Amino acid sequence: MLYQPAMKTIDLRSDTVTRPTAAMREAMARAEVGDDVYGEDPTVNRLQERVAGLLGKEAALFVPSGTMANQLCLGVLTRPGDEIVCDHGAHCISFETGALSALWGVQARTVVAERGLLEPAQVEAAIRPEGDPYPRTRVLELENTHNRGGGAVYPLDRIRALAAVAERRGLAVHLDGARLWNACAASGLRPADYAASATTVSVCLSKGLGAPVGSVISSTKALIADARRLRKRLGGGMRQVGILAAAGLYALDHHVERLGEDHANARRLAEGLGALRGASLPLPVETNLVFVAFEGRSAADLSRRLAAEGVLANPEGSRPDMLRFVTHLDVSRADVDEALRIAARVLA
Ligand SMILES: *Cc1c(COP(=O)(O)O)cnc(C)c1O
Repeated sequence: MLYQPAMKTIDLRSDTVTRPTAAMREAMARAEVGDDVYGEDPTVNRLQERVAGLLGKEAALFVPSGTMANQLCLGVLTRPGDEIVCDHGAHCISFETGALSALWGVQARTVVAERGLLEPAQVEAAIRPEGDPYPRTRVLELENTHNRGGGAVYPLDRIRALAAVAERRGLAVHLDGARLWNACAASGLRPADYAASATTVSVCLSKGLGAPVGSVISSTKALIADARRLRKRLGGGMRQVGILAAAGLYALDHHVERLGEDHANARRLAEGLGALRGASLPLPVETNLVFVAFEGRSAADLSRRLAAEGVLANPEGSRPDMLRFVTHLDVSRADVDEALRIAARVLA
C-alpha cells in the first residue's frame, strides 16, 4: 500500500519534496548495476558521462547530496587557512552546517550582493592582497539560480565578467548549480554556457528534476579524481548505486523540458498571493521560487495556519514576515489555484 495522507496537501515548501513517478521507479528497477567504488556501475558511469557532456567538462562524479557536492568541490580547491569569496546568503555557508570550516579549515569572505548576484567590483575588493598576514583567497563561489536571492538567474555576461576577475587574480570558480536547470529554463541558455566560466560545477538531480537522491559535480579529470577520494573519505562511496543514477538519467530525459511549467505556475502563484491584503513580493519571480512578505504578520504563524488547511510553505528566515513558496513536479496548475483559494481564506 502506498502511503496516503488523510488530507490532500499542496506541498510548496521546497522542490526537494517530489516523489519519484511510476515511470522513474520502473527505470530504477531496471537499472544495470555494479560496484561503483570499483568504478564498475554502468548506469552511474553513463550518468556521469551525460552530465559532463551537458556541462562541457572532462569528467563528473555522482554524489549523495548537493551539500556533499559543494563541499567536495570547495575541498579540492582549497587548503586549510584559505578563504573563499561568496554572497552572504550563499547556500554553501548558510545551509551546510558550517562544513566549509569544519571539514576543510576554510573561511568565507562574504559580500552583500543584490539578489545574491555578485558584481565584479565587489569581488575584486574582497580578494585579499598577497602577504604573510593574509588568508589566501582561492575560490570565487557563485550560485545560479540563487536560492536566498529568490531564484535569481545570473546574466551570462555577469558570470563571464566575474570569471575574468577570478582568472586575473588566480582564483578558481565554483558554480553551485543546484538549480542550474531552472536558470537554463528561464534564460534559454544551455548548462554548458554557464559552466564554461567555472572550474567546478555542482548540479542537483533531486530538486526540480524530481529524482529521489543525488547531485553531480563536474570538472577536469584531475579535480574529479581528487573529489572522488574526498567523497570516499566522507563515506560517500556507494556500491550498486546505479539504481539511483537511473532516476537521474530518467529525470534528465523527461523532467528538464517541463521546468517551464513550474516557472509559469510560480508566476501565477506570485500574482495571486501578491494581490492579497498586506502582501508584497520583495523579489522578482524569475524561476520556481516565490518569496512573499506579509507586512506586520508572523511568517511562522501564517505557515502554521496554512498547514492546517493543507498548504505547506516555509518561513524564509531572512525576514520574520516572509514565506517561501516553491513550485515543482508534484504541483499542478490546479493545485496552484487551490492553494490560492485557501491562502485567500486563511490570510484574509
Ligand atoms: C538545496 C541546495 C543545495 C544542497 O542540496 P542538498 O541536496 O539539500 O544537500 C546546494 N545549493 C543550493 C543553492 C541549494 O538550493
